[in-house]
Amino acid sequence: MKELRKIKKREKSLTIRKTEALRRRILTKHPIYDAVEENYRLLTSGYNGEKSLDYYLKFFPDKNYNIINGLRLPDYSTNTYFEIDSLIISPHYVLDVDAKNHKGELHFDHHFEQMHQTYDNIKKTYTCPLTQLSRHRLQLKRLLDANKITVPPIDSLVVITNPSTSISVSDYHPGAKNIIRAPSLISKMDQFEKKHKKVVLEKKEIQKLVRLLKKLHTPLDKNILQTFRIQASDLINGVFCPVCDALPMKHSQGKWCCTNCGHTSNDAHLRAILDYFLLIDNSITNKKLREFLLLPSRTTATRILRSMGLEKTGEKKGTKYHIPVEELLEMCRDLYVK
Ligand SMILES: [Zn+2]
Repeated sequence: MKELRKIKKREKSLTIRKTEALRRRILTKHPIYDAVEENYRLLTSGYNGEKSLDYYLKFFPDKNYNIINGLRLPDYSTNTYFEIDSLIISPHYVLDVDAKNHKGELHFDHHFEQMHQTYDNIKKTYTCPLTQLSRHRLQLKRLLDANKITVPPIDSLVVITNPSTSISVSDYHPGAKNIIRAPSLISKMDQFEKKHKKVVLEKKEIQKLVRLLKKLHTPLDKNILQTFRIQASDLINGVFCPVCDALPMKHSQGKWCCTNCGHTSNDAHLRAILDYFLLIDNSITNKKLREFLLLPSRTTATRILRSMGLEKTGEKKGTKYHIPVEELLEMCRDLYVK
């Protein structure tokens, strides 16, 4: 069985990476700690839901399908962005899939276009994901039109990924057929196959579409300290020991040494610098680096910064080292396998 061609793999968003860094760098007794934890729980739940989509999509054998995960695309008419969990592109149609991993009971109200969640006796109300998906259809059409790409039929699905969630819909709900549980994904795609028989996107056109979407994809890069209304001074500085997690490692004779377990490392500073970039700023000076790593030596700091191959601006003490978003994500992948 051939797998779907995965053009863009699913990975943790920059927001999740930033939240993970914040969890590492804030004291459990800090007033914001619980809010950070709750936010992290919600983000990972959503991410796990999206990942379970991937599990079911693996069983869809058609090699003519291309899948792009985790897209964030611009809508120039409103100056906003819209996010797509999975976009499945076939020669016949395009399928926009929204994964929902909510727990408890979900009720879809057609009249008010809302989704209500009841969990642990707490009721929350959201905009109906079907409403968002119909907006996506218009936004995608506009993007394709503007870039002279044939607009294929666009179908959409809300996929409930949590198997223990109870689902109900209001009495008359024309969109109900597009709300499914994850295991039904493949049979639903079979139905779409039968519905869209005509080839509308030739191979070249699909390649053009994939290139365009990848080019337009813009990861959300929001300042997390502002989100939680905290200062850089609220963060814990220093280099963590990669073995025992103790803080801070001390730098001596060209190495980082853990005073707790005795482990030594040549590059333990990299994870700390990553945290700085994720949490504080996408550029750093020698002075800021020394403050954050609790590193007294200016020469060592210079050596570290030069070894990272970062883009430089300014001169002497004003020199700043910059990291673009794509390289920051790459650094996250390199330093944290999962
Ligand atoms: Zn240690």
